Amino acid sequence: MTTNDMIPFLDLATPHLEIEKEMVSLFKDALRSSRFIGGPTVEGFEKDFAAFCGADHCVGVGSGTDALRFALIAAGVKAGDTVVTVANTFIATTEAISQAGAVPAFVDVDERTCNMDAEKLREFLETGCDPGKKGGLVSKKTKSSVTAVVPVHLYGQMADMDPIEELAEKYGLVVIEDACQAHGAKYFSRRANRWMTAGSMGAAAAFSFYPGKNLGACGEAGAVTTGNPELAAKIRMLRDHGQSQKYYHEIEGYNGRLDAIQAGFLQLKLRKLSGWNELRRQNASRYGALLGGVDRLVLPYEPQWSKGVYHLYVVRTEMREGLQDYLSGKGISTGLHYPVPLHLQNAYSGVLGYRKGDLPVSERLAAEILSLPMYPSLSDAQMEKVAGSIRDFFKGRD
Ligand SMILES: *Cc1c(COP(=O)(O)O)cnc(C)c1O
Repeated sequence: MTTNDMIPFLDLATPHLEIEKEMVSLFKDALRSSRFIGGPTVEGFEKDFAAFCGADHCVGVGSGTDALRFALIAAGVKAGDTVVTVANTFIATTEAISQAGAVPAFVDVDERTCNMDAEKLREFLETGCDPGKKGGLVSKKTKSSVTAVVPVHLYGQMADMDPIEELAEKYGLVVIEDACQAHGAKYFSRRANRWMTAGSMGAAAAFSFYPGKNLGACGEAGAVTTGNPELAAKIRMLRDHGQSQKYYHEIEGYNGRLDAIQAGFLQLKLRKLSGWNELRRQNASRYGALLGGVDRLVLPYEPQWSKGVYHLYVVRTEMREGLQDYLSGKGISTGLHYPVPLHLQNAYSGVLGYRKGDLPVSERLAAEILSLPMYPSLSDAQMEKVAGSIRDFFKGRD
């Protein structure tokens, strides 16, 4: 097999070819102006990204992890609080919760969407918690106040936000969206009776611009979007050592700013993002047509109220290990997002008090998921080869 026949898991180079000249000239301008931190480029990107998300404010930060951490802190999450999230996510979600001083609590996910199951959230709030003395809820397990919930829009598919927000309102929880995989994903809110964009719901939302994300920097970057001007102002301070003006520190903050060069690259790439997302959606439906009807293979599910942006195209099979090896032998790279749910990670063993069996759906998903190659430049021929190889693997095994 020649290397040309190999199908990589990601293709980060092709998108840059479309805008290479502009990116190079932006870099040259940056060298000459030497505005590397803050300034009009960062502000320009923040304005554009807020508009893209349908949010009033955007604050650029150093990473998606910064974005989550600053959003939680600015929204009032404090030491000793409990914050509810899911276990089938990247560990940054819970790192941010812990680094805000809080303790993560997990609820299981919906088997079809792979996202937070609002009924499991209700069950946790109504049976896993007691009413607190000062109002709100206290987790029976952590004995601390439950103050926030972080739904993750995993793989670029929206979590079902309406029932999550209703529960959050009822029990006084702050909602922070982890939209790190969902730039441009849409949700039809039955409550608002309109389509809404990831990053415009909840108190605030966190985005990552890690290179492999749908909108990726050429390095590390992230952003928080919010409709709340005070929250935005607080996050601006948190990202810059708690300064309100240079060397006047209102609070102790962090070094978590967005680089001006990255902001410039992101601003250029943002103009292409809707088109790139649309190509991902077309590729997803092409995969769907090519892979339909294969027994023992479950394809991604898109509810009527969601328009996902297919950051990842994740299929499920009980024969995951065999299929992954088989595809690898055919030169097709795949990924696992994520192989170990957070409650079973070594980092949390003996810390959070979870055991195998506590989150059965998350655990089953972790054992069965397989991420296929997915990117805007993926060709029909490549998808046909992936799908053909998958069909070959299952032939005679049904
Ligand atoms: C990528 C990612 C993050 C963290 O973003 P970084 O920019 O790598 O810090 C957080 N949550 C989820 C779901 C992610 O996919």
